[in-house]
Amino acid sequence: MSRQASRFGAKPQEPSRFFLSGIPLKAIALTYLCYMDESGTPSIPGNTSHFVLVGLSIPISRWRDADKSITKILGKCGLENEELHTAWVLRSYFEQSRIANFDELDWDARRAAVRKERNKYLLHLQQTHQSKSYRQFKKMYRHTDPYVHLTRDERMALIQEVAANISTWNYARLFAECVDKLHFDPSRARLPVDAQAFEQIVSRFEKYLENTDSKSHGLLVHDNNQTIARKHTLLMRDFQHWGTFWTKIHRIIETPLFVDSSLTRMVQIADLCSYALRRYLENGETALFNPIFSRADRVRDKVLGIRHFSVDTCKCNICKSHKTLKSSGQAVAVAPKAVKA
Ligand SMILES: [Zn+2]
Repeated sequence: MSRQASRFGAKPQEPSRFFLSGIPLKAIALTYLCYMDESGTPSIPGNTSHFVLVGLSIPISRWRDADKSITKILGKCGLENEELHTAWVLRSYFEQSRIANFDELDWDARRAAVRKERNKYLLHLQQTHQSKSYRQFKKMYRHTDPYVHLTRDERMALIQEVAANISTWNYARLFAECVDKLHFDPSRARLPVDAQAFEQIVSRFEKYLENTDSKSHGLLVHDNNQTIARKHTLLMRDFQHWGTFWTKIHRIIETPLFVDSSLTRMVQIADLCSYALRRYLENGETALFNPIFSRADRVRDKVLGIRHFSVDTCKCNICKSHKTLKSSGQAVAVAPKAVKA
């Protein structure tokens, strides 16, 4: 456990290989759910430099604890029944700065004042025939409406508290493939960006299950999106039959289950993790990265679960942890690094 991770109350990984609560693991079959979500666009160049795919593994026996702890935090902000969508929560809501003494109003008054400002602005866009902006703002207002009673600082504090809570889940493991598309050459790659990322997560989750105990199985749970659903289902069928480039698949069952992320809390947590990784790699933001990186799958304190596909000279914490791993001679189920730019 790094000193940085322990600052957030992060706990060391639960010793899963042999015993759980005194019961030899060989005596029980464990099932793990791996919640997947992505951040950034896989298209090249697209409008983001990175594409990040995340898988957050949780043993089903701990799902209730994890879910309850998040609901408790959200409840403090009146959001226990709302979707937690990190990017929308952390947007700038410029209307709030136009409202006098916004911080001093109660929640109902804040909501009413923001909605009034927003309606005024939508009317202005309509009257000035700015139909594209009208549609964009209307969409933004719909997605951010549940959070408008919170100031920017309160919203950031909320997301940080959730991230700090995730860092205490010593039973959870985070897997992620973070592709810097500036260094991804489609003509030399075996697979497109998103398929490569999916293959990596599947391979690492499979290896984790193999190393955990002899009877564990896993299931992938993914945010529903028609394009991705079809693509990942077909890929997973292939992996089930032929294996990935890195491993045969014995422990992950079925093709991924696709769920509505607005209703499934743990997919929203995977969304927070993918957001935190991309913001760290693109903007150097560490407030959310540090706590969630503490949950990366590790072997002997070396990170195996998260990779940054970039140049060999990259100095980010993810690459640094991989270099240490390579020098230790530990086998890693990951593709070769990108060539130097
Ligand atoms: Zn890096």
